[in-house]
Amino acid sequence: MQAGIVGMGIMGRLLAFALHNAGWQVSLFDEHQADNNCSSTAAGLLTPFSECDKADPLICRLGQESVTTHWPNILKQLTEPIYFQQAGCLVVHHPHDKAEWQHFSQRINSKLVAKDYFQHLSKETLIELEPELNKFTTAYYFPDEAQIDCQSIMNSLKKYLQAQGITFFFNTRVTSLATRQIVTQSKIYKFDYVFDCRGMGARTVFKDLRAVRGELMHLYAPEVQLQRPIRFLHPRYSLYIIPRPENNYLIGASEVESEDYSPISVRTSLELLTAAYYVHSGFAEARIIETKTHCRPTLASHLPSIDYQDGLIAVNGLYRHGYLIAPALVEEILRAFKTKQQDSYYPELWKSYDQCFSE
Ligand SMILES: Cc1cc2nc3c(=O)[nH]c(=O)nc-3n(C[C@H](O)[C@H](O)[C@H](O)COP(=O)(O)OP(=O)(O)OC[C@H]3O[C@@H](n4cnc5c(N)ncnc54)[C@H](O)[C@@H]3O)c2cc1C
Repeated sequence: MQAGIVGMGIMGRLLAFALHNAGWQVSLFDEHQADNNCSSTAAGLLTPFSECDKADPLICRLGQESVTTHWPNILKQLTEPIYFQQAGCLVVHHPHDKAEWQHFSQRINSKLVAKDYFQHLSKETLIELEPELNKFTTAYYFPDEAQIDCQSIMNSLKKYLQAQGITFFFNTRVTSLATRQIVTQSKIYKFDYVFDCRGMGARTVFKDLRAVRGELMHLYAPEVQLQRPIRFLHPRYSLYIIPRPENNYLIGASEVESEDYSPISVRTSLELLTAAYYVHSGFAEARIIETKTHCRPTLASHLPSIDYQDGLIAVNGLYRHGYLIAPALVEEILRAFKTKQQDSYYPELWKSYDQCFSE
């Protein structure tokens, strides 16, 4: 079978990886050469349980499947070592945001019925885990949560796919696509199946697609020794500090309802840095290495969707969960091809579901 995939974000690359492993002949198209898409901007949090605070339980299920099964399997196959850490995630709050803390506590207690998904820590148990978080008197700990280095997994997937002889069409804008057909400015290509993974480029297919701008900062902070991602509850933002090797940290991220790819704003910079400095005063002497901005492809429901016609599958709406859920979405698509029967794990994801799963 021949697959044409449009979009080399995390969704397109993981789909190419899985289809190639399943014996398909794959061609990948992207309108850019460099990695300047949403997937190359992301922070790499893989936090299916603490996300339950705001996200639908479907995200938690997809994320749990990705973190426990698919990511470790994908990483085993790649030749280069990728920074992937499963040391849990901590959630803390500012004393002035007690109401936010109570809300968070209520939401996770009602949504996460299996209580071993999280632990409520005292000051002493928190300090055992993260000695430098000694100003906080309590925290929630989600021991099974993980993080991945998005920039290196994107590079590594590209190198792996190139080494496997997959055809890449860089700098190739797809002007239209249809069942079994991809049209560029210079040519029409035919495939057995076309996969549309264009993120914000797929507005003609997903009418309610919108952009949610996200900004984040990369810091080098030699005076900070945090071991795991820290989420800092805030009434208006989802703030987090993510440690990477050698005292590098990602501080993110804003959520602004706007298709705006311009550089980070002063307001966001101040808010992110103030939060980081509050969590750990060692950030005062940190160096700002880089700032990044992109837009998350988001559907009205804030959930992903798989749009199906015979010969064409479009996946979109990964919103703020692309790395968390893409591996499980890929498996769900492959299941449809393998079984050709109604055994989807996530029927709510599919449009034209009956058509897809019938013989
Ligand atoms: C600041 C920030 C932090 C984030 N942090 C996290 C996180 O911690 N954890 C997590 O799970 N997710 C996170 N996300 C979300 C995640 O990055 C997205 O969900 C994910 O990148 C979406 O992937 P995608 O492959 O669907 O789209 P994209 O990455 O946008 O890829 C789409 C590709 O399609 C190409 N394309 C579009 N139109 C055309 C066309 N006509 N022809 C050819 N090519 C085309 C584009 O060039 C692009 O390369 C974050 C996002 C942001 C912005």
